[in-house]
Amino acid sequence: MATRRALVRLAEARLRAQGVEDPRLEAELLLGAALGVRRLDLHLDPEAAVPPEAAVAFEASVERRLRGEPLQYVLGETEFRELRLRVDRRVLIPRPETEVLVEEVLRWAAGRRDPAALDVGTGSGAIALSLAREGRFRRIVATDVSAAALEVARENAERLGLADRVEFREGPLFEPVRGERFDVVVSNPPYISEAERPFLPREVREWEPAVALFAGEEGLAVLAALVREAPLHLEEGGLLALEVGLGQAAEVVRRLEAAGRYGPPRVVRDLAGRDRVVLAPLAALAEDGAESQHVGHRA
Ligand code: GLN
Repeated sequence: MATRRALVRLAEARLRAQGVEDPRLEAELLLGAALGVRRLDLHLDPEAAVPPEAAVAFEASVERRLRGEPLQYVLGETEFRELRLRVDRRVLIPRPETEVLVEEVLRWAAGRRDPAALDVGTGSGAIALSLAREGRFRRIVATDVSAAALEVARENAERLGLADRVEFREGPLFEPVRGERFDVVVSNPPYISEAERPFLPREVREWEPAVALFAGEEGLAVLAALVREAPLHLEEGGLLALEVGLGQAAEVVRRLEAAGRYGPPRVVRDLAGRDRVVLAPLAALAEDGAESQHVGHRA
């Protein structure tokens, strides 16, 4: 039987040859998963023999990774803020940038009394479940256009003991919440342009769900719809909180201003220093029936 150390070395070399950026780390994570031990515990006994079943499982997961499948799908889980979330091909892998979006929503919510939140396009449930775990919300609704994604989100809610805190509903944009208003509407929508598609890393392009990634010619289709329709689903003074793609913040700010319904937008950078989150409060309604005008504008 091969030792832990020997198996990690071998897998590390194969992953490196394939261009994997951090092959040692990934080899250790995969072996830890196959053995059911934490990565750091591997080092306690590097000379321990790996039982055959675990070696077979490890080999299978290394093969998947070598074929280009994202590490998180092979592991079947990822970390997002305080949560360990199940992920597979049905959902986008939650990204660290999105943790910043959640942070901003939590900060805003901390100043209110038990607000109600809506997460549009919840995917794995990362945003909605983090709000449920870390914040104090009266009510959290999470939607997705993909029924398959919602299965994953529901499973995550169950496993995390948050199923009674988040209500999941299927449908595009605001369709599942027709006639309802929230104190905060948050979304990390698809925002990649068709033009960028060929330049995406293969891992993303070939493995993550297209419906979670792409939004028309400029990548702005869903963001624009959210800006346009959110006033019908926000309470006065409520917050619209959006994650945006590289180079899109200025255009989203422009659209928020042009909508004439929002207070001054604020842009927040991600940990890499890129404009990533755009926030705007719904302004109080004027007395002149501005809202009915707006309803008329809806596409
Ligand atoms: N809300 C989920 C996330 O942030 C999914 C986003 C998406 O599918 N575009 O990870």
